[in-house]
Amino acid sequence: MTLVPISPYVVGECGICGRTFGFNARVVVTVQALGHVTPVCKACLELANERRAVHHLPLLKIPPGAYEPDPS
Ligand SMILES: [Zn+2]
Repeated sequence: MTLVPISPYVVGECGICGRTFGFNARVVVTVQALGHVTPVCKACLELANERRAVHHLPLLKIPPGAYEPDPS
């Protein structure tokens, strides 16, 4: 039997806007809502950062490769 590595690149729904998007499950930013941990899409992170910048809050980091297909 040969074991095939499972790609961390998956498709799911954003925990904030509900949009379906692809992400790397190893590095994507997540939120906890109603007892579930859900991924957050890049558009929501960027929107959050725009609002944080207005209020001079530290910006959220967008992990490199979080929204790109796994090259392996
Ligand atoms: Zn979103």
